[in-house]
Amino acid sequence: STSERQKENSFKLVLLGSADVGKSSLVLRYIRDDFLETVSTTGCAFFSHRVYLQGKILDFEIWDTAGQERYHSVSHLYYRGASAALLVYDITSKESFSRAQLWFQELQKYVFGGEMVIALVGNKGDLQDKGKVSREDAQAFAEQKGLLCMETSAKTGDGVKEVFETVAHELLASE
Ligand code: GDP
Repeated sequence: STSERQKENSFKLVLLGSADVGKSSLVLRYIRDDFLETVSTTGCAFFSHRVYLQGKILDFEIWDTAGQERYHSVSHLYYRGASAALLVYDITSKESFSRAQLWFQELQKYVFGGEMVIALVGNKGDLQDKGKVSREDAQAFAEQKGLLCMETSAKTGDGVKEVFETVAHELLASE
C-alpha cells in the first residue's frame, strides 16, 4: 500500500558537529531556502522533508541538535536508528574539523551492523579566504573512512541541496 511504501522510504538523518558550524542554518537553507544571521537554537529540532528523486519518494526525518552540544554532550539516543548523518564542520575552524572526526568515532561505537550513509560537510564555504581546513585534508579523511565529502555554504546556498540529494541517492541505492 502507499502508506507502507512511504514508511519504507522514510529515513532518519541526524546533523552532528560543534556549536556554530551552521547545522541549523543548513537545515533552514535546505527546507525553507532561507538564511538568518542569528539562528534560534531553541526552536523545533525535528523536520520532515519529502524528496522526489529518480521517480521515487523519500521522506527525510531531519534531526538537528538545536544547540544541545553547547550545554552537554549529545545523547546517543539522538542518533539511534539513524540511516544517515551529516558530520558538519566550519572550514574556518580546525577545532570543528577535529570535532567532526571525533563524531565519526562516536558513531562507529553505536552504529553496529546496519549501514549508515555518512557525509563530512565543510560549511561556510563562502568564507574561503578565512579557510583553515583544506579540502585535501577533508577528502583524505573521508576517503580513508568511506564517507561522502562535500563543501557547502548555508549563506549562499552553494552545495546544500547537493548534500541532501547525494545522501538520498545513496540511501535509495543501498535499499
Ligand atoms: P549550529 O549551532 O551548528 O546550528 O549553527 P547555526 O546554524 O546556529 O549558525 C551559527 C552562525 O553561523 C550563525 O550566525 C549563522 O548565521 C552563521 N552561519 C551558518 N552557516 C553559515 C555559512 O555558510 N556562511 C556564513 N558566513 N555563516 C554561516
